[in-house]
Amino acid sequence: MENARTAVVVGSGFGGLALAIRLQSSGIATTVFEKRDRPGGRAYVYEDKGFVFDAGPTVITDPAALRELWAEAGRDMEDYVTLLPVDPFYQLCWEDGFRFDYTNDQASLDRQIGQKSPRDVEGYKRFLDYSNEVYREGYEKLGAVPFLSFRDMVRAAPQLIRLESYRSVYAKVASFISDEQLRQAFSFHSLLVGGNPFDTSSIYALIHALERRGGVWFAKGGTGALVRAMAKLFEDLGGTLRLNAPVDEIVMENGRARGVVADGNRLDAEMVAVNADVVHLYDQLLRGDPRGAQQAKSLKKKRFSMSLFVIYFGLRGQPADLKHHMVLFGPRYRELIDDIFKTDILADDFSLYLHCPSVTDDSLAPPGHSAHYVLSPVPHLGTADIDWDVEGPRYRDRILDYLEARYIPGLKRDLVTCRIFTPFDFRDELNAHLGSAFSVEPLLTQSAWFRPHNRDDVIENLYLVGAGTHPGAGIPGVIGSAKATAGLMLSDVEQARAVSS
Ligand SMILES: Cc1cc2nc3c(=O)[nH]c(=O)nc-3n(C[C@H](O)[C@H](O)[C@H](O)COP(=O)(O)OP(=O)(O)OC[C@H]3O[C@@H](n4cnc5c(N)ncnc54)[C@H](O)[C@@H]3O)c2cc1C
Repeated sequence: MENARTAVVVGSGFGGLALAIRLQSSGIATTVFEKRDRPGGRAYVYEDKGFVFDAGPTVITDPAALRELWAEAGRDMEDYVTLLPVDPFYQLCWEDGFRFDYTNDQASLDRQIGQKSPRDVEGYKRFLDYSNEVYREGYEKLGAVPFLSFRDMVRAAPQLIRLESYRSVYAKVASFISDEQLRQAFSFHSLLVGGNPFDTSSIYALIHALERRGGVWFAKGGTGALVRAMAKLFEDLGGTLRLNAPVDEIVMENGRARGVVADGNRLDAEMVAVNADVVHLYDQLLRGDPRGAQQAKSLKKKRFSMSLFVIYFGLRGQPADLKHHMVLFGPRYRELIDDIFKTDILADDFSLYLHCPSVTDDSLAPPGHSAHYVLSPVPHLGTADIDWDVEGPRYRDRILDYLEARYIPGLKRDLVTCRIFTPFDFRDELNAHLGSAFSVEPLLTQSAWFRPHNRDDVIENLYLVGAGTHPGAGIPGVIGSAKATAGLMLSDVEQARAVSS
């Protein structure tokens, strides 16, 4: 590699922005190309009739990883964005009326667990110990380390085996906790990063420890305010962010990436990093290079996470009894998850995540109003062949009817604005393979070294960042991927300097 001092990042999701900040802070002149008119990727923002809707991530965990980005740049995050604590973290609700306030208050957790199932108080403590241990091994030690060679995997294997990472999240939770609803309460988290709790490695039980240790936060002004803060930090450092600029292809010469073409114009750079979907990268952006076809074919054989159906809606008034984050379990758990991940149907029932940010922050809706979104995990387009242009409005009405009947009386009467986002939108707006919401499914056999690597194995100055590479989806995951990828890029630059001097 030559003395690399310029880089292009394709895509401005959390991973792309975090990488761009790290590169720019280290003196690499970085240009980010973003297809859409705003940065953020899955964390896009819609504004309708005075309401502000965060399109995607709303549960902010591990604020220290975000603060580190500002520290790397010699700035304070607090000068750019304010994080507000959320309590309870979530309220979990079941159709039989059982509600569980999932909080960070141990006494409250013990009391609620004890009332539901006395013998699970002790089991929960053992689960928390387990979760803390996988957090240390899986997140602290390995979360931001690139797995480039099989040797890295072999080194990590003894710990992974000792922690029984070959068991599923649900199986591991069930080994500590006997009550079925409490098992659901402590195993659903892997769904937040696209993992089926019955298939995903128990390593993902670390999410519980991540939340208990670092808390659950919400950015004042919405997740969009956090995205804007990151984009501002990047630009304050001298970086260039190009919006409405879809990259059409990566320019290859002599086996190396030379830059990108966007809107017919070529921009050369010494390193290219891609935050866009991994299949899109190899199938489309590298369509002219043999490596593209070869890697796209192999990636298409992998299992991809489910998709999501999302309804953003604004209401007159603030409905009573809602918490900021709510998980509304339907009548079935394992069977529904099977339907979502494995069958070619759209189930009649659903389990929902309901976001009610106006509970924490009154700036997201006009005075006297409230902003919400509700999401339902649904099969991706490779699992179920559903015409979402037809099914979308019907599915929206079914979900709104359900919410009105059980949680938000008068919902349709008070509805001011409403829009939906379907698996077709994940595919078309975000270039997501099969409309997957979280990219490559986080199975043990598709994690760490088995995941697309943070640096391409063949094209030595092409890098990956974001949900499709190590460690995986979720804001902490993609922020960790940016750290791993930036570390690689900067050490490659150092090596090139050492060789040329
Ligand atoms: C509805 C929803 C709710 C979620 N909730 C949470 C949550 O509460 N907490 C949490 O931690 N995680 C959550 N997640 C997961 C989290 O949002 C994602 O894993 C993470 O944001 C993905 O970031 P990324 O860096 O991979 O980039 P993405 O967000 O996937 O962004 C990639 C970007 O690349 C752009 N792009 C694509 N092709 C091109 C091209 N050719 N040229 C230029 N640009 C291109 C896209 O427009 C996009 O902006 C949620 C996800 C969804 C969908």
